[in-house]
Amino acid sequence: MKIDVDEIEFFGWETIHIDVLEATDEIAVNYKDMTVIEDTVSLMDSNNNLVQLQSFDYNNITEILRLKFPQLIPEKYYLYLEFNSTIRNDRKGLYISTYFNETGDKRNIATTFMAPNYARMAFPCYDEPEYKATYSIRISHRDNYFAISNMPALRVEPEGTTDGWLTTVFDKSLKTSTYIVAFIVCDFVGNKDPVANFTIFSQPSVIEDTDFALQYSQNVLKELELYLDRKFQYPKMDIIAIDDFLMGAMENWGIITYLSSRILVNDRTDEKAKHQVAKTIAHELAHQWFGNEVTHFYWSAVWLKEGLASLFEDSISGIIFPDWKTEDKFTLDTMLSVMQDDAGKTGVRQMFMEVETVEEIRNIYDFVTYKKAASVMRTMVFGMILW
Ligand SMILES: [Zn+2]
Repeated sequence: MKIDVDEIEFFGWETIHIDVLEATDEIAVNYKDMTVIEDTVSLMDSNNNLVQLQSFDYNNITEILRLKFPQLIPEKYYLYLEFNSTIRNDRKGLYISTYFNETGDKRNIATTFMAPNYARMAFPCYDEPEYKATYSIRISHRDNYFAISNMPALRVEPEGTTDGWLTTVFDKSLKTSTYIVAFIVCDFVGNKDPVANFTIFSQPSVIEDTDFALQYSQNVLKELELYLDRKFQYPKMDIIAIDDFLMGAMENWGIITYLSSRILVNDRTDEKAKHQVAKTIAHELAHQWFGNEVTHFYWSAVWLKEGLASLFEDSISGIIFPDWKTEDKFTLDTMLSVMQDDAGKTGVRQMFMEVETVEEIRNIYDFVTYKKAASVMRTMVFGMILW
């Protein structure tokens, strides 16, 4: 993918490997708010024979492109297509965030926010959590920027014959859902742990405020590995502080993005804000197992990952900072407010919520998904212990 941060546009090309399991004459794929160039669409079978495209039909309500072909027998196929668009400014899909550098110049960075179904705004894909795939990502960018993604970079090479452009080639990812794929093109600076493969990136003026998060994140990861008796599955962890962000943080596998105020700590940060940073970090790191590795089959069950991550927010920060008494605070701050909300005017909402349309899925994040799910799970944990 070629990402031009200065001109605020991107151009992409991709090959999707598809296993056709039952005979069909149609291949469908999600995309939204971009141009997929019909002339570039080609389907090859496993013997490299071209299969003739018969029709190209995009529905902007369902956000699905339907491609018709002659009968496809069950085997492997390779779907190639090219696409382009402007980079967004609404903090969804691939979007621009800005900051002012130390000389007062306004700078752009390009970053991503894919959950729950905004990956289709960055590249055509199967944008459902159960359709996992491996990703081999290449990002071309101007040479005064660098690119990071879920996996480590294998190499950075000149971009064809274009002067002033580079291509960063990333290692192949583990099998993953689209909503935790991420890539960033920026000119940030890094605070790297000299021993562990852990780096925090931020705009230069606040890089010293990342020290707390760099140390604490590693402590949390160690505690989670110990508690769950399972290693973190990715070879590195990048953390990025971004000023323009849709939520507090996003748990992309191996590259967690945060709203700057949810990760930066300095002498002026009050205790409450510091606790919030600690809880957010524990939440996102818990997702590296719950959600990223073991995934809800559909968004109706998103409470499974959010409830567990919310539960670990307090239990893990309580292990690292016992004086904070976060476990006790859970009952007061979370459980009681859930009971109040649940008994409120709108009535009790069950945790498993039937959602179908793209808009219903985008509106599923509420107190039930996070706090109520965590409260019910905590009750089950203590119930089992008491038995
Ligand atoms: Zn979460």
